Order: sequence, then C-alpha cells, then structure tokens
Amino acid sequence: FEIVGAPVINDQHVLKGVILVFHDITKLKRVEQMRKDFVANVSHELKTPITSIKGFAETLLEGAKDDEQLSDQFLTIILTESERLQALVHDLLELSKLDQDEMKLKSATILFPEFINNIAPIIQQEAERKKITLEMTVDQQASIVGDSDRLKQVLLNLLHNAINYTPANGMVQLSVKSVSEAVIIEVADTGIGIPEDFQSRIFERFFRVDRARSRNTGGTGLGLAIVKRIVEAHHGTIHVKSKLNQGSTFEIRLPKKKIF
Ligand code: ADP
Repeated sequence: FEIVGAPVINDQHVLKGVILVFHDITKLKRVEQMRKDFVANVSHELKTPITSIKGFAETLLEGAKDDEQLSDQFLTIILTESERLQALVHDLLELSKLDQDEMKLKSATILFPEFINNIAPIIQQEAERKKITLEMTVDQQASIVGDSDRLKQVLLNLLHNAINYTPANGMVQLSVKSVSEAVIIEVADTGIGIPEDFQSRIFERFFRVDRARSRNTGGTGLGLAIVKRIVEAHHGTIHVKSKLNQGSTFEIRLPKKKIF
C-alpha cells in the first residue's frame, strides 16, 4: 500500500483529525515486474544468437575459413542463428504493434472455406515434409467479420506448432464449425502434449515447456502470446486441452458479429 495523509483543521485552527488515503499499488508493482521480466527475457533471447554469430565469425577469421568443411559448418550456424534473430525481432515487432494498435483491427467479412484454401498449401507442405497427415474440415457457412491478415497468423502459428510438436507419422486436424453466434476453430494434434501444470502458462511471452526443443525447431516462445492477443482483440476466447504424449487440441471461439 502507498499511504498519503492530510490533517483536518477547523476554522479555529484546531486539529480535528487526519485523512489517510490507502492506495493499493499491488497491480502497479506487478505490471512493473512483468515489464522488467520481459526486458530481461528479450535481452537474454537476443544475446544468445548474437554471441554465437560473433564467436563463429571470429573463429573463421582467425583461420578456420581455410578449412572448407569447417567453414561450411560455421557458416551454417551463423545463418541459422541469424534466422533466429530475424524471427525474434519479427515477433517482437508484431507484439508491440498489437499492444499499440489494439483498436485498429481491419474488418472485412472472412469466408472460412476460401480463407482456409489460401493458407492450406503452406501448411500442407510443412506437414508433408514431416510425414504428418493433415485433415481439414471447414463448414461452408462459417464466416465472421474480422482482420484476415491477423487471423491468418493465428491459424499459421497454431498449425505450425501442431506440426512442430508432433513426431513423424502423426496427425494434425483443423476443423472450422459454425454455431449460432460464433465460429469455432479447432487445431488438434497427436503430438507430445503439454503437462497439465504448464497448460495455463503457455500463452505467456517466452514461456516454453522445453526451451531446448523449442529453440531447435526455431521457435521464439512468442507465437502463442501473439495468437492470444489477436483472438482477444476480436473478443474471442482460446483454450487448450492436452494429454502428455497423446496430443493437444486448441479451441478458438470467435463471435460472428463485429463487436470491436
Ligand atoms: P514456441 O516458439 O516455443 O513454439 P509458442 O508461444 O508458440 O512458442 O508456444 C509456447 C510453448 O507451448 C512451446 O514452447 C511448447 O512447449 C508449447 N506448445 C505449443 N503448442 C504445442 C503443441 N501443439 N503441442 C505441444 N506443446 C505445444
């Protein structure tokens, strides 16, 4: 609590009492702590690839460049780490834009059969590369008013994760259903699953169940935070159901009518 006090004095200059104002600053402190944690996380996430890029470039200049095999190996690491940096900066800019332009969503009618047809080839290719069966069922009536670029990002992030966290020969299913007031989008996989204790935390910025695995697959730890921001900006909800080693299902519910 922050306490501010003021004396109460009457016309005869006699002290009649004191007014104390108790100001609950718990929330302010929490927000401030979250901001500090975020900056610390960003710095750490940026530092790791930069250290690696610098180290391998120096080693190349000190002579490793004369060995063709070593050069190839080190340059590949430099390229991968640069791509990680690029993905991280992209996601950070995206989050910052969402924080600022919360109210500036584009709004147009999105017809899901057509919308899903547009993103299907990207995901189909990713799934094939990993030998994962992809199934899509889309209600012909499903449509909402929303920001199609941002919703495309939501679906790509969820489908990308589903493929990423599912071993080869698994299955990923996307379904879009139309109910009375909403459209329900489900992305289900037969992958590694998420331990129950962590299910409520995966939407936090930089939270990962397994940091090393997420890094290896190029994850930034920001994908689901972005998904949640976009869904909530559309006044929708997102939930996850998951069983360890059996799979995960993400369910998004978006209101059909524009209310933002
Ligand atoms: P990342 O870039 O690490 O994938 P996300 O924000 O997209 O970041 O996801 C956060 C974490 O949630 C991941 O690191 C992973 O541990 C977990 N996760 C997300 N989607 C799935 C999924 N479909 N199956 C299992 N774990 C998942």
